[in-house]
Amino acid sequence: MTNGLQGKVALVTGVANKRSIAYAVAEDLAAQGAQLAIAYQRLDKERAEDKIQRVTEELKPALLVPVDVGDPASVTAMYRAIGERFGKLHVLVHAIASAKRQELGGRYSDITLDGYTYALNISAYSLIALTREARTLMSAGGSILTLTYIGSERAVLHYNVMGSAKAALEANVRYLARELGPEGIRVNAISAGPIRTVSASGIQDFLDLLHQAAEFSALKRNVTPEEVAHAASFLAGDGASGITGQVIHVDAGYNIFG
Ligand code: NAD
Repeated sequence: MTNGLQGKVALVTGVANKRSIAYAVAEDLAAQGAQLAIAYQRLDKERAEDKIQRVTEELKPALLVPVDVGDPASVTAMYRAIGERFGKLHVLVHAIASAKRQELGGRYSDITLDGYTYALNISAYSLIALTREARTLMSAGGSILTLTYIGSERAVLHYNVMGSAKAALEANVRYLARELGPEGIRVNAISAGPIRTVSASGIQDFLDLLHQAAEFSALKRNVTPEEVAHAASFLAGDGASGITGQVIHVDAGYNIFG
């Protein structure tokens, strides 16, 4: 089954390893016919290129490009590389979040200004920064997606500063959707249930969160990265042409519980 992604160029950020949600999303987009540009964070300058090449080998990306969303020059350089390689862009997947480990546990009232600013910059403002330049390449319209979590709506134990970051991210989705709708660019978020990834393991007592999410979900289980990826491909494609500004829960029905 295809979803109209043939001939579309998709930029996927946030692939750190094969467990990254972005990896599953990239795999699904490619299976639907999209051409991939994968942007990765260069954490270890010596070996970052080797590592990402190994991780993404099976995805056969047309372009691998580094990006640090905390550095505006790096964002510009990434889009320059995409412009030179493809001259256009149809899909942007923002799957980036980061917070200082000490802010993902303990007392919410102990969050520092530094920690707060860092988490909101990397995890929420970055959607605005990435969208601003993506737009210039989306002259035929496009679909922008981000990943959020229910900790934006509810006070989830230990999620702390990321709760604020995800609330800001979801507001960004609505404001960007409103602004870019007239240009045929849709902006949506998927609120995924908890999944074991490197980022998630930074949250104190994450395994408890995982078990609790399964127990109190309608489907009585956790979701898989592939389920999130299927929803992402749907939102990326023409099948979702009437959907924008939404936060769609892919969480086995956890969010409906009172
Ligand atoms: P992950 O650790 O695999 O991915 C996080 C990515 O963010 C990494 O690839 C990392 O390199 C990137 N990143 C961090 N700082 C960056 C920077 N300055 N510049 C560029 N990239 C940067 O973990 P994941 O769980 O796949 O996270 C992807 C997204 O999904 C995040 O937004 C996360 O909050 C969200 N999410 C995760 C879960 C979960 O339970 N895992 C649930 C809901 C939403």
